[in-house]
Amino acid sequence: MNHQQTSHEPEIKASFEFFPPSSDEMEKTLWRSVERLEPINPHFVSVTYGAGGSTRERTHSTIKRIIADTNLVPAAHLTCVAASRDDVDQVVRSYRDAGVRHIVALRGDPPGGLGSSYEPHPQGYETTAELVARIKEIGPFEVSVSAYPEKHPESQDFETDLAVLAAKVDAGATRAITQCFFDNTAYFRFVDRVRARGINVPIVPGILPVSNFAKVIGFAEKCGTSIPESFARRFEGLDDEPETRQLVAAAVAAEQVSALREQGVTEFHFYTLNRSNLVYAMCRLLGVGSQDSQCAA
Ligand code: FAD
Repeated sequence: MNHQQTSHEPEIKASFEFFPPSSDEMEKTLWRSVERLEPINPHFVSVTYGAGGSTRERTHSTIKRIIADTNLVPAAHLTCVAASRDDVDQVVRSYRDAGVRHIVALRGDPPGGLGSSYEPHPQGYETTAELVARIKEIGPFEVSVSAYPEKHPESQDFETDLAVLAAKVDAGATRAITQCFFDNTAYFRFVDRVRARGINVPIVPGILPVSNFAKVIGFAEKCGTSIPESFARRFEGLDDEPETRQLVAAAVAAEQVSALREQGVTEFHFYTLNRSNLVYAMCRLLGVGSQDSQCAA
């Protein structure tokens, strides 16, 4: 079954996610990566919003620099956590005035962290759907939202997740980007559920090329992302062998994106963790990017 809507040989689109740097060293790493990935001509590049809105200024300045110094199309993440509606609206207006036309709208994790219960700010948006609707009123924004192939960790069942996704799309979101996953069957099952529910926006797989497997285990557990046995086995015993691990990481990620591509997926969102190597390699493999970028490698 073809899992994205395609009528003829489709163009493959890739987008990249970065996070705002918190030190000079990280800043250098980020901009080196942006520079290296820019010639690939991504569909857009997004910049995350720290937990509890903690990177409001840094997200904004990173987005502003992308606009000023590159030809990339920025998408700013924005959450509802710990902020009043007025505050959130002000952030949206400042993005609109800076020329941003794409927002990734999210509820955000509970201020107490994943696992604690979510309480909206007393004057804040209660749901992501409300935020999406308001963003669409404030300016001519494209709005992307999240989706969870293996269920959101707070969710009782897929039905609740699908109802929340449907509400976000009804409010004006035109793309869902998934939480990272390592088991493609979970993604395909989810897309089938989404389509059966009558939701027709692209469900863009969020791909996390894994370079540090030990770190990913903890992260995956928290997010409810399963790690297939075969996947884990490949990294076994490589914790102290970074070079081999990098080769394995490239092969594993290549296998994942190639399998998605073969099943008709045409849009990919890469969690770069502000690094370019693995993502650059995946894009070349998918044939994403201009001729120039391919010559430049
Ligand atoms: P929603 O999609 O609104 O809801 C998530 C789930 O919570 C629902 O599916 C449902 O199970 C439950 N739920 C929500 N509302 C209700 C309701 N009214 N009744 C019953 N159940 C409900 N976090 C950040 O802090 N900054 C970021 O930049 C960021 N970027 C992200 C990008 C992507 C692509 C993804 C997948 C996640 C990102 N996150 C980010 C994490 C996200 O904030 C958390 O997963 C958060 O817990 C949920 O936010 P959401 O927008 O996905 O919530």
